[in-house]
Amino acid sequence: MSSVGAMLPYGRQSIDEEDIAAVVEVLRGDWLTTGPAVAAFEDALSAIAGGLPAVSTTSGTAALHTAYAAVGVGPGDEVVTTPLTFIATAATATLRGATVVFADVDEDTALIEPASVEAVVTERTAVIAAVDYAGQPADYAGLQPIADRVGALTLADAAHSIGGTAAGVPVGALADVTTMSFFPTKNVTTAEGGAVIARDGTLARRAREFHRLGMVRDPDRFVLSDEGPWHQEVQEFGLNYRLSDVACALGLSQVRRLGEFKRRRTEIVTRYDAMLAEVAGLRIPGRREDVDPMWHLYPIRVLGGRRREVFERMRSAGIGVQVNYLPVYRHPVYAELGYRRGLCPRAEAYYAQQLSLPLHPSLSDADVDRVIETLTGILR
Ligand SMILES: *Cc1c(COP(=O)(O)O)cnc(C)c1O
Repeated sequence: MSSVGAMLPYGRQSIDEEDIAAVVEVLRGDWLTTGPAVAAFEDALSAIAGGLPAVSTTSGTAALHTAYAAVGVGPGDEVVTTPLTFIATAATATLRGATVVFADVDEDTALIEPASVEAVVTERTAVIAAVDYAGQPADYAGLQPIADRVGALTLADAAHSIGGTAAGVPVGALADVTTMSFFPTKNVTTAEGGAVIARDGTLARRAREFHRLGMVRDPDRFVLSDEGPWHQEVQEFGLNYRLSDVACALGLSQVRRLGEFKRRRTEIVTRYDAMLAEVAGLRIPGRREDVDPMWHLYPIRVLGGRRREVFERMRSAGIGVQVNYLPVYRHPVYAELGYRRGLCPRAEAYYAQQLSLPLHPSLSDADVDRVIETLTGILR
């Protein structure tokens, strides 16, 4: 795919002829949206998530917003989450009117730390939202008892981790509610897209209704009876977050390739690990025990205050490294709400050193070696 001279991206989609054919077939058919491809994609996601119900959405951000809405998160509620995530994990809770409370991360894995969560939960905590950073499932076994004790739910933002497992349990079934993203850089793509998966049937139903404007279609639940066979009604506000059949056809074809993607991502990570573990001036990603990650990112830490220099020199060499993520509360929008630097020192220290190396299935071994040689050359 890539050639010397072109920028090697840190992440990108892998689209094959079958993916293209699946989309073309939908374009020639009767349904562009809300048809059979949506149901088939949701069934495939459900199968990945141990059989729990899945609702597709227009993005991972929409999935998070839908999940918080389904839980009923609103003003007066607190959502505890990690600062080391994409803004959407927190912003969608803030937009629901909840107060976001940040808990610090494990300094080695960058996953939210149950002890830090324990220290900040209150009876107002409605959701503990963990992020499977880089593709490793967070410690849900540690988080669930804390949530249960205060009457909160666990949420897994699994934008990075579809196809992973923890103690043999698949991502999607590890938390009370799970959200996914199918943005092109993620592990499978629908161009834009996402999904909500819920353990509880009522929660799944609420998510489904929210993502179609709150429309209730079950006559047993109608407030307005005797309107006629056409009738459907709105009892709580929702939004239009429906994913199209065009996108779902691509998604269905992509999830069939999940095993292939996982194998290649794992091979690349193994190669990075082997070649970088002993290199002075960096640390390779820390591992949780008893998890089988679906690596989305390969986050190294650059020591000695050299992260910016390494970032710039890698980019100049045509290697599209990235930094994931600015601690969420440092975004001006949260700073204006009164969140201060220093809130989560381990997350801030991690961010200061973090650098994501290119990782996606279409990287060749030669690409990977070029990344390794360029990096070790800079650090030498
Ligand atoms: C990508 C991502 C999202 C948002 O997904 P979109 O599909 O881009 O809206 C949310 N959380 C995390 C951790 C992500 O990486």
